[in-house]
Amino acid sequence: MEDGKPVFFVGPWDLNAELPCVPQDPAAGSVLLVESIAKGKALPFHRKKLVLVLSALHHFARELANRGYDVTVLRARSYVDGIRQQVEARRGSRVEAMKPREWGLAQALARADREGTLGAPLRLHDDGGAGSHFFLTRQEFAGWAGDAPKLRMDTFYRKMRRDFGVLLDAKGKPEGGRWSFDKENRKPPPDHQPPPVERFPPNQLTRSIMERVEGWAGRWGSAYGFDWPVTRAQALEALDRFLDQRGEGYGPYQDAMLKDQPWMWHSLISPALNLSLISPREVVARALEAWRGGALPLASAEGFIRQVLGWREFLRGVYWRQMPGLREANGLQAQRPLPKLFWDPSATDLECLKQSVGQVLETGYGHHIQRLMVLGNFALLAGIRPLEVSHWFWAGFVDAYEWVELPNVHGMALFADETFTTKPYAASGAYIHRMSDYCGSCRYSVKQRSGEGACPFNHLFWSFIDQHRPLVAANPRMKVLLRTWDRWDSEEQESIRRSSAEFLAGLDEAQTGWSFEDDAC
Ligand code: SF4
Repeated sequence: MEDGKPVFFVGPWDLNAELPCVPQDPAAGSVLLVESIAKGKALPFHRKKLVLVLSALHHFARELANRGYDVTVLRARSYVDGIRQQVEARRGSRVEAMKPREWGLAQALARADREGTLGAPLRLHDDGGAGSHFFLTRQEFAGWAGDAPKLRMDTFYRKMRRDFGVLLDAKGKPEGGRWSFDKENRKPPPDHQPPPVERFPPNQLTRSIMERVEGWAGRWGSAYGFDWPVTRAQALEALDRFLDQRGEGYGPYQDAMLKDQPWMWHSLISPALNLSLISPREVVARALEAWRGGALPLASAEGFIRQVLGWREFLRGVYWRQMPGLREANGLQAQRPLPKLFWDPSATDLECLKQSVGQVLETGYGHHIQRLMVLGNFALLAGIRPLEVSHWFWAGFVDAYEWVELPNVHGMALFADETFTTKPYAASGAYIHRMSDYCGSCRYSVKQRSGEGACPFNHLFWSFIDQHRPLVAANPRMKVLLRTWDRWDSEEQESIRRSSAEFLAGLDEAQTGWSFEDDAC
């Protein structure tokens, strides 16, 4: 038995031997990974997400053991309880860990350290900056943000491009003369199908975890059919295949949606990235390499890099700046409970929702336009409580964690916190019709605004504009919509209001029976 050496706690999202929570010298102390029972029950997580996290964790433990580390995987009541057990068993001199990425674990660890219940002092490494995961330390982001009342992602993104010398020409100007190529990156779905995607069939270790997780009650979806990357080698292979085979189409078709095509031209690396199997620095470096080599057009490279260097870093900074208040944000006073259709796609006859929810149920994944412009848009227009929407995304998506979901859902999708977004992303059925093939087989008519058979996104959208008139009038990008609404006669306006009210009254509430307990993880 070792004694007197540090315990290195590797958090569930710190699965990379380059991070400082893993000592360079295997003899420096014991390495601990924990399966937290409380965390696994905090939400009705998708079984494929649980398999992903547990399989990646066990593969990482095995990899470290093969390299000579003294590794323990403990199944414990909570992460803190697991650390306490290991400190006691090994008479650990101190605990080293990364700063947790989620508020709940950060609070639990800080409390245990303060009260001395870990059994040894705690030393936390920043999860950002050189040699760590994110590009920026939390202090660096806080320094950039200062006490500004509003933060803008595009300003932050330009700073990051400049600071890290990404996609700049010899004069320090943006490559191609523009910071963003979004205008080129909004094409509707093409006639041709997306290329096939390499998936990763489970090995024996993953299959045993799938068997275990499939038997857990109160979770969502099935563990069977799991085929996400669970090791660093697989994650790098997935990244390279994306850059080689789908990167070219990523830019133009990143907003497009097709029935029964969950992957489209998307990279699918976020689950591995958010577990640290790969780092954002190497993702950006490989994307730049592919662009320089001609495999990735500039518009695709810029759009992809913006997600990693810009949006991902920005949201993580916002999360730590605004927690715990971000959980309570509800600027539009949305009070409708989460409808049943979010858990059961057979509960809706809106084809776009049926497709998007059904795909998440099947795979644990939906791409960003399904998240923002179908699921998030619907939740916004229907006035669903932000925290319930956020919890649903967190539970259901294989790449979702609180630091990802709260700012994405409360900020961008639901405009519950307007300090870091520019406008509500509200759209009528016309947007979904333009960007997908969903409407062709839907029982509703996307051309109709109200009345029997009208697309619900249409009357919900115009009712939203009507209900939030002061907000819309004050927003330069939206106020033109009021001119359209005001042109319609009162009969038309009343018909829209009535259709919307009738539709919302017919939504069944979800009966999940769970309560959120993440801070006890
Ligand atoms: Fe969705 Fe409306 Fe299109 Fe149906 S018609 S798929 S409800 S946008």
